[in-house]
Amino acid sequence: MAKYIRKADIILIIILIIAGIAATVILSGAETSGDHVVVTVNGSRYGSYPLSEDKTIKLDTGNTVRIEGGKVYMKSSTCSGKDCIKRGKISHAPDSIICLPHKVVVEIKGKNNDYDTIAE
Ligand SMILES: [Zn+2]
Repeated sequence: MAKYIRKADIILIIILIIAGIAATVILSGAETSGDHVVVTVNGSRYGSYPLSEDKTIKLDTGNTVRIEGGKVYMKSSTCSGKDCIKRGKISHAPDSIICLPHKVVVEIKGKNNDYDTIAE
């Protein structure tokens, strides 16, 4: 049977496999690239903001969230430990910054999951 498989067939199969892998990588890449930021305070949604617009969000908890250049980070916080600030900048879904003492969660969401924008 093996002699009926031509070199061209093998090349075709390899091309199809590579194309399949490339498509998977591209699709998963599109899913994980962050689109917007959802801020949750004490279990309830505070707001949703596009990653594409630079913005500073001051929370009543003493946390300041900063969106800059497509990334988000905790600019300042009055919490102890400051683990949320040490988390650094994040830009891909489903990464998140959590300030445990203040019950603040900053989550990166992809394009297709629960987008909404609050009126200022
Ligand atoms: Zn914190």
